[in-house]
Amino acid sequence: MQDRETDGHRARKRFGQNFLSDPNIIRRIIDAIRPQAGEPMVEIGPGLGAMTAPLVERLGHLHVVEIDRDLIARLRETWTPVQLTIHEGDALKFDFGSLCGPERKLRIVGNLPYNISTPILFHLADFAEAVKDMTFMLQKEVVMRMVAEPGTEEYGRLSVMLQYRFRMGRLFDVPPGAFRPAPKVMSSIVRLMPLPADQLGAVDEALLGRIVSAAFGQRRKTLKNTLREFMTDADFAAVGIDPGLRGERLAVSDFVAIANHCAAPGAAGRHDCVGDRGA
Ligand code: SAM
Repeated sequence: MQDRETDGHRARKRFGQNFLSDPNIIRRIIDAIRPQAGEPMVEIGPGLGAMTAPLVERLGHLHVVEIDRDLIARLRETWTPVQLTIHEGDALKFDFGSLCGPERKLRIVGNLPYNISTPILFHLADFAEAVKDMTFMLQKEVVMRMVAEPGTEEYGRLSVMLQYRFRMGRLFDVPPGAFRPAPKVMSSIVRLMPLPADQLGAVDEALLGRIVSAAFGQRRKTLKNTLREFMTDADFAAVGIDPGLRGERLAVSDFVAIANHCAAPGAAGRHDCVGDRGA
């Protein structure tokens, strides 16, 4: 990716700026989002407004979160506060829960800056209960990891932690030529639909996160090694999971079973110190 001038703006690599310029692709994305007038929606990283313009047109009003001050100034010149509420700053620190009421769940969209794609997905997962759906453009390789199935090379921490919370689908791919400047990689559109809270199942989600991180921290090692601090052989036997497997073989429900076994008060093994592990 080069720093290059697009529409009078010098694209900043540090903000992952690749601006959509293909009208057919923009139309396909907006059609996939299906914005309905009056819906509460926020766009992350509106940039030069390629998606913002058709979204405002269909919704009437849109929230945006943008970090680049030059772009914010342009957005202010283009739209009125009635059409666009601009939240200046870092989407990684933004409280998306502040944009929705108890009755009206939020829709989140964006052509996400690729340099922060994993942390932003983890940040957004914290707001899943307040969210109706999310539609994002991301690097294709990241989307493949999000939707990967157990036993594949792409399956890892990102797959497990997102699939625990969301139903996800890859909608279509977008080639580098659809952007200015063109990135080096293919992109994909992905949709995330939060699962109902009563289907999630982990008693202690922070513990689930630590167990999944440990299981994939050293991919080549078996669960017996990677989860040594959490599970004894007796614990593996109790949950019916072979400790000789690698983390990549386990389904999301297996990780939840392990986490819930570890969280259970008085369970066998070393659970007396679960609270101190890797926090
Ligand atoms: N939506 C525009 C488009 O499709 O042409 C721009 C997409 S560009 C890939 C990413 C956008 O996210 C840029 O506008 C960039 O300034 C913004 N951005 C980068 N990091 C950000 C962050 N941490 N918080 C909010 N916006 C960010």
